[in-house]
Amino acid sequence: MDKKEFLSLLQNQPIINSHSHHLPDNDHYQLTLKAVLTNSYVSWCATPLPSENSKEEIIAWLNAVRTRSYFVWLEKALMELYDIKENLNADNWDLYDNAISQGHQDKNWHIRLLREKCGYKAILLDTYWSPGEDNGHPDLFMPAYRINSLFFGYNQRAKDHNGNNIQLLYNRSISDIDEYINFINQVIWDKKQSGCTVLKCALAYDTSLDFGEASKYQAQKAMKEEPNAENIKRFQEYVFDCICKTAAELEMPIQVHTGLGLMKGSDAMQLQPLIDRNKHTTFLLMHGSYPWTGDIAGLTHVYSNVWADLCWLPVISPIAAHRLLHELIDVCDADRVIWGCDTWTSEESYGARLAFINVLTRVLSERVEDGLMSRHDARRYAKAVMHDNASRLLGI
Ligand SMILES: [Zn+2]
Repeated sequence: MDKKEFLSLLQNQPIINSHSHHLPDNDHYQLTLKAVLTNSYVSWCATPLPSENSKEEIIAWLNAVRTRSYFVWLEKALMELYDIKENLNADNWDLYDNAISQGHQDKNWHIRLLREKCGYKAILLDTYWSPGEDNGHPDLFMPAYRINSLFFGYNQRAKDHNGNNIQLLYNRSISDIDEYINFINQVIWDKKQSGCTVLKCALAYDTSLDFGEASKYQAQKAMKEEPNAENIKRFQEYVFDCICKTAAELEMPIQVHTGLGLMKGSDAMQLQPLIDRNKHTTFLLMHGSYPWTGDIAGLTHVYSNVWADLCWLPVISPIAAHRLLHELIDVCDADRVIWGCDTWTSEESYGARLAFINVLTRVLSERVEDGLMSRHDARRYAKAVMHDNASRLLGI
């Protein structure tokens, strides 16, 4: 089986997508080229699209971003989905814009893209703007419950990076640590009852990921009048261990954002003490801990409760994803690797899927060619990462 044949096989393989921030229906109905680009990593992590679209500004912007991986895969997606032969430039900007607008005249177009073009059977959805939603499509989206606000409930004034505080969200005024832990356990239990299958921790945008062991007494200190940074850290450490225990009891895996974020202390290795203390909790370490991808390989090698979730990584850098996937095949069991798009629109999701399949095809073809893997095992591995592992984990 050559690379081309393998690629076409994977393109038709159904996928369970481990992570998405797909926007609510209303945001897709009037989608334009500008809106697709604004709600993409090209604008968010590279260079924001200029607010005025003079030809000169578009040219300058395209010159700045077009070699970035985020742009490359999004442009490929737009060209494929809307059957456009020319790369995006200032002269054909309206052609792209009209094609996108026309597509979304069909209000179901964004869902059809996910189901029919991307081949997603289920998608874990992180609606951080309103944690735990399924966007009104329970047959496609499975809600992940974002837990950041639980780490900021030491009083009613603190906020996570999305502006949330769990005490404020639930109109509570708790100042006793035992009562607080009972309260957040109840919140998690209720979320599980309402359909959330996993917890999502994006603390890498709030703080470093080094969570030591703290006592209840230390955690209580943060719940007094003016907590200092030390009190808050101990509180968050104590809360994280409590959440890990609850997650293990409820059989809810915890997705943890690793790499990038604040950069300071976002490398996955910072989580090693927490993982070591909580061996009954399943940790889905996301994004390959980029740029510290070796951390993921090392942690999956040592801890059987650690999974590698490759979401986002193939569009951050296909070369980094290529290297990590080779390492994971070497050191991690085949049943603990998954992938998700980590995008806001169907167009960018399709691009993320293209990047991922490209990496997966290259890595597995190289393995077969080098005599390290049989063709049968390569097909089985691809199916496991794209579908079967997440299916087993989530009970789909
Ligand atoms: Zn994400």
